Amino acid sequence: MQIRYCLSCNKELLGRTDKKFCDTQCRSTHHNKNRPFHEITIQKANSGLRRNRTLLAHFCPSGKSTVRKDVLVELDYRFELFTYLFPFKKGTYYFCYDYGFLPIEEKGIKKMLIVQKQDYMENLSFNPWGFKL
Ligand SMILES: [Zn+2]
Repeated sequence: MQIRYCLSCNKELLGRTDKKFCDTQCRSTHHNKNRPFHEITIQKANSGLRRNRTLLAHFCPSGKSTVRKDVLVELDYRFELFTYLFPFKKGTYYFCYDYGFLPIEEKGIKKMLIVQKQDYMENLSFNPWGFKL
């Protein structure tokens, strides 16, 4: 009988002859190690966006609310990640899927006006060459 070794940690494998890994931990370690770099990049951005969206939704239970920027900074909100921009005359909304915020300042305190995405925000013809932050 041939001795087989875990493809992840190289420990000797016992049991079924078609086994390639000790356990699910070793299996996922191996697959993560062999994932192409772009997949890791995409997954990091996606999980950051999802997390941002969850935070926005949490602080905006009824469609619209205002939260101090510091609160979201404390919770590691990633301001550089967003899925849509919605610029209008008073500023720019930064959306993560269906929730977004407008950066505002009240009495010197930086805040986020969080909103749920509205239908009219969908059909924007956005021109990156004519847009200034
Ligand atoms: Zn192993």
